[in-house]
Amino acid sequence: MKKRQFIKNIGLGAAGMALAPTLLTGCKIEEEIKEEFKSFIWVGNGANKTMEDWVKQFTRIKSLGFNGVFAGGDANTLDMTATIAKSMGLEIHSWQWVMNRPGNKEAMAHPEWYAVSRNGDSSLDVNPYVGYYQWLCPTKPEVQDYIINDMIKIAEVEDVDGVQLDYVRYCDVILPRGLWDKYDLVQDHEMPEFDFCYCDDCRSKFESEQGYDILSKEDPSQDEAWRQFRYDSITNLVNRIAKEVHARNKKLSASVFATPTLARKFVRQAWDEWDLDFVMPMVYYKMYAEDVNFVKTASEEGVAALGGSKPLYTAQYLHDKTNEELKQSIEAVKTGGAQGIAFYDYGLLNDEFGEIIKKIKA
Ligand SMILES: [Zn+2]
Repeated sequence: MKKRQFIKNIGLGAAGMALAPTLLTGCKIEEEIKEEFKSFIWVGNGANKTMEDWVKQFTRIKSLGFNGVFAGGDANTLDMTATIAKSMGLEIHSWQWVMNRPGNKEAMAHPEWYAVSRNGDSSLDVNPYVGYYQWLCPTKPEVQDYIINDMIKIAEVEDVDGVQLDYVRYCDVILPRGLWDKYDLVQDHEMPEFDFCYCDDCRSKFESEQGYDILSKEDPSQDEAWRQFRYDSITNLVNRIAKEVHARNKKLSASVFATPTLARKFVRQAWDEWDLDFVMPMVYYKMYAEDVNFVKTASEEGVAALGGSKPLYTAQYLHDKTNEELKQSIEAVKTGGAQGIAFYDYGLLNDEFGEIIKKIKA
């Protein structure tokens, strides 16, 4: 089925019959929407999915009470998924990897665009932690322009509600505690091979602002101005993206590290300062070697840091959860004062999880 045929079918054929009730319930008064506890789910890029597959999947997602999806895929895929989502009254935000660009051909044509570690290695050649870590330098104007143009293309897809940024940060200079064993590391300090970006552009821009070369310092990791420089580098990029996305009347959101404090410390994300419309801190508590109570306290910290400026939807990973743990984490998100919840991802949403998630809205 082609997009045009799909549109024709709405309200006419079998798919239209199934969709009609959801179309009618799409009209809520604004006040009600504001107070509603929202739920979202990531749905991947669906590289091999047909339109029928997407219709089936989104119909199930809608029936479980979700407000919207974070969908991967290029502008063509998005053109199709956005049409389907909109017809069902689901929000759709395009899931975009920002600074980490594994195997990106356009970027690879410019090896100088990649972030350089304190050891002097380009992350194009030496991948920290995992093979798919290839980080761009957020300070370079040409990298920023490249990324922003990408986001503009997405924001211009009709029916897309917004752009959802992921990997909008530096490489993890420190991994969450629960991952240290996996990589056989004890990260009680910032190690040079995971510390970015020390490219010539970053160093000279920092020197022109602060009056010294960061590499002249015995321990750059202790330099507060250098830390701030890197928070600002990401913040400035996000805010430039926000300007373009908002100019196209679309929303901007981001999935970020668990709390503003940990996000700064681990990946240089000062996300509570960004011009976003909503934010999804990934409070995957097992990765932090914490119990489910961390979901509540991290949500509270994020909500307090935002001070009511925008909604916070706490993200939860379905992979590491029993049914009981899923119930507990939903409860923890609610008691933590978040305005909603987001799940990663649809491929892990079995029938039992579906029944539990359906009750969020009950
Ligand atoms: Zn750099």
